[in-house]
Amino acid sequence: MSKSTVAYFYDQDVGNFHYGQGHPMKPYRITLTHGLVLHYGLYKKMKVYRPYRATFHDMCRFHSEEYVDFLRRISPQNVQEFTKCLSMFNVGEDCPVFDGMFDFCSMYTGASLEGAVKLNNEHCDIAVNWSGGLHHAKKYEASGFCYVNDIVISILELLKYHPRVLYIDIDIHHGDGVQEAFYLTDRVMTVSFHKYGNFFFPGTGDMYEWGSESGRYYSVNVPLKEGIDDQTYMQIFKPVIQTVVEFYQPTCVVLQCGADSLGSDRLGCFNLSIKGHGECVKFVKDLGLPMLVLGGGGYTKKNVARCWTHETAVLLDEQISSELPFCEYLEYFAPDFSLHPDISTKQENLNTKQYLDSIRLTIHDTLKNLIHAPSVQIQDVPPDLLSLENTEEPDPDVRNHTDEVDKRVEPANEFYDGDKDNDKENDGFIEV
Ligand SMILES: [Zn+2]
Repeated sequence: MSKSTVAYFYDQDVGNFHYGQGHPMKPYRITLTHGLVLHYGLYKKMKVYRPYRATFHDMCRFHSEEYVDFLRRISPQNVQEFTKCLSMFNVGEDCPVFDGMFDFCSMYTGASLEGAVKLNNEHCDIAVNWSGGLHHAKKYEASGFCYVNDIVISILELLKYHPRVLYIDIDIHHGDGVQEAFYLTDRVMTVSFHKYGNFFFPGTGDMYEWGSESGRYYSVNVPLKEGIDDQTYMQIFKPVIQTVVEFYQPTCVVLQCGADSLGSDRLGCFNLSIKGHGECVKFVKDLGLPMLVLGGGGYTKKNVARCWTHETAVLLDEQISSELPFCEYLEYFAPDFSLHPDISTKQENLNTKQYLDSIRLTIHDTLKNLIHAPSVQIQDVPPDLLSLENTEEPDPDVRNHTDEVDKRVEPANEFYDGDKDNDKENDGFIEV
């Protein structure tokens, strides 16, 4: 197989934001990841971009205007003026108000969105944004350290060109925000592997949440118990993805690579090694489909950086040494200075063979209900969300040339209806 063209998006400012003292989410992990990517020389093998920044308008593709306006206006200096909104939009505790919060959202969302545009235009085979993957954000509210759902927004962009998008989530937490957004449609199939039970956040994602209406059987959930190791994870991950791909025949894939499923994570309770986590990435890459690769959770930052560096190399088909290259961040990786230290814990693996076999069978039987590879009608579509060559904000009223539009596909009930946006106001679902 020939090597893929990889586009990598990194904003040098994204690692400088702070959620606040003691908060487990550390954007600095992205700086550490990039430091290793640079010093391993991986940047020479891919196209590196300083990404576009998402605008208010881009965020409103999914989120309500009231919510995005709140995100834009609030700051640590004026929180007392917004006390009512804070609880309404679930901002304050897990999702604190911090300096530059809106700029942070704009950076990670812009990078995912530009990745989607580059995939649509076939400028790359794989687009990577380690700062993205904030899968918990909802249409009207923040959740689980996530404010703006860059995944939903970039999938909406992919749907302008792709009839069927497969979303795969290997974060330890359920990909609830993405599942909810596409719960009623067959245009996106969401597959989430996560810890479920004992009130583990966010509490959703049991096997029987499989979608509704046109989306019935297009949400797949693999609820796992604590302590899962590489070998056991592969026993369920590979057959499930294989079956999903056979039945659904996606035309592109979005992979959320949350690294809180690694052993020794500050918040997680799984036991994957960096190589095991990376094997999922390799397996999905080998499907040979256009692929948007995103970050997500991950709270032991040195291991997050190791994991996403290893996975960058996997996507590039490059072999890199376990011995870390010299760089200014080397002290973070003491005492082993290795890319693959032993990060396993003594946690017992509670996922028995019988338990995993029963999940696999249930999923297989459910997928048999699917109409193979649902197709969509050719319709007028909105233009690319970004005018990448243009430094100004994209004008939502400008439409692309019809010859370009003709190449794309869209269902009858698309999110846009000419200039009228027919998005429902009273729920968190998107009609696509
Ligand atoms: Zn997570």
